[in-house]
Amino acid sequence: SDKRLLELRLMKYGDRQMLLIVRDITRIRQLEGMRKEFVANVSHELKTPLTVLQGYLEMMQSMAEPDDINARPLQLMQQQTRRMQSMVEQLLTLSRIEDATEVNLEHRVNMQLLMAAVKDEAEALSQGQYTLMFDIDPKLDAHGNEVLLRSACSNLVSNAIRYTPPGGVVKISWRKIATGGRFQVEDNGVGIAPQHIGRLTERFYRVDNSRSSATGGSGLGLAIVKHALAHHHSELYVSSQLGKGSIFGFVIPHHLLAQ
Ligand code: ADP
Repeated sequence: SDKRLLELRLMKYGDRQMLLIVRDITRIRQLEGMRKEFVANVSHELKTPLTVLQGYLEMMQSMAEPDDINARPLQLMQQQTRRMQSMVEQLLTLSRIEDATEVNLEHRVNMQLLMAAVKDEAEALSQGQYTLMFDIDPKLDAHGNEVLLRSACSNLVSNAIRYTPPGGVVKISWRKIATGGRFQVEDNGVGIAPQHIGRLTERFYRVDNSRSSATGGSGLGLAIVKHALAHHHSELYVSSQLGKGSIFGFVIPHHLLAQ
């Protein structure tokens, strides 16, 4: 009850001086925990009412005559309900990932299979309107959590497609490089202005709401990617040019690779 959580930082100045900073982070951690629990509970509670709404909307839509003046509003209501449902799902995923304190890093993930699944998904999303290029090392595996790694990869791929106009090219690769196993997605889509890049992994952060509302996202995808990667001692990197395209990727360090 009276346990305190302290953060210690030791900084070295030149050869002779050191500075020790002690910070009491008990309260910060408590608040963080409350915030997480609240978000998880609210998302969970929203699931049922949304399912009910969705069900009735579907029923009303199936009964509406084609020239019914309510046909279009019904369709929009259904679209938005579906969007809310997917946001709630993503919020729950994010809470689960944040909470996953013990990710088993011993488990070997068959990356060839994982990439095949990512490829299927990309093809379904692209509906033949994009050129998809894959460069996958079939022998390079990683250790970690399959669900989290898959979620990181598919979020990056689906973003590349969603933020690239039809006719675009998306290149996906999983290869060994000097620093580890690199997964990278390159697109020639809308790109991102430099001032936004540092904030992309914040929850709900979206570059341009008017533009991105058409793509139906929630701004949670990259937050999920960030947390999934942190469990694998990895970070997201981004490089982008507005109007030219973007590169998103991450490197799994050597100690988590298997060949
Ligand atoms: P969203 O659900 O909005 O896609 P994300 O967290 O996945 O949420 O992405 C955050 C924002 O980053 C997006 O709204 C979009 O503006 C930008 N973004 C992500 N990926 C790309 C990309 N490949 N090209 C351009 N913009 C991107």
